[in-house]
Amino acid sequence: MTNVASCGDDDAVDGSGIIKPAVPAQVQDAIRTLIEWAGDDPTREGLLDTPQRVGRAWLEYCQGYKEDPAVHLGRVFEEVGGYDEVVMLKDIPFQSHCEHHMAPITGKASIAYLPDKRVVGISKLARVLHGFARRLQIQERLTAEVAQCIWDNLQPHGVAVVIEAQHGCMTGRGVRTPGVGMITSRLLGCFLDDHRSRKEVLGLMGYG
Ligand SMILES: [Zn+2]
Repeated sequence: MTNVASCGDDDAVDGSGIIKPAVPAQVQDAIRTLIEWAGDDPTREGLLDTPQRVGRAWLEYCQGYKEDPAVHLGRVFEEVGGYDEVVMLKDIPFQSHCEHHMAPITGKASIAYLPDKRVVGISKLARVLHGFARRLQIQERLTAEVAQCIWDNLQPHGVAVVIEAQHGCMTGRGVRTPGVGMITSRLLGCFLDDHRSRKEVLGLMGYG
């Protein structure tokens, strides 16, 4: 990647023509303060451009604030050829950040719904997930928000969302316990009310 000279508040263009958003001075100052507080010297060569890089990285990590994930469910198909079984996207990898430590949450999500006449392009389920994941989150709320968004917009018979993730704030600090996954689930409609439907969908997700 081409280095970009210090650019104040103006957007910068790198060697490949990609526009890099400006990182305001106060954001860069905040990151310098954090580096110093952590014990390093923000004026040493290797850290000089770090405040800008970190600022831009956080814009990307938190892109979800700029979108309403429901827009991805706006285009539905009503011609489903009589299909009335579960539609599922399994093991979708995602990244988020915990709102308590701003540490990475990395994991996978399985999202399923039982359509009532309306289906969406399958990639849209992943887009809804990323729209909510690219914010400061807790895993429980992320799980609930994805499920509720599909429930409200597709009005299906049922929605099931299961998320399994590792939390940087647990692996890299605090109890420092790597390899432990946290599992959260949200079941709505028939997957909540009907024991057999729930068993079927969780089985398809690999949690049977
Ligand atoms: Zn945390």
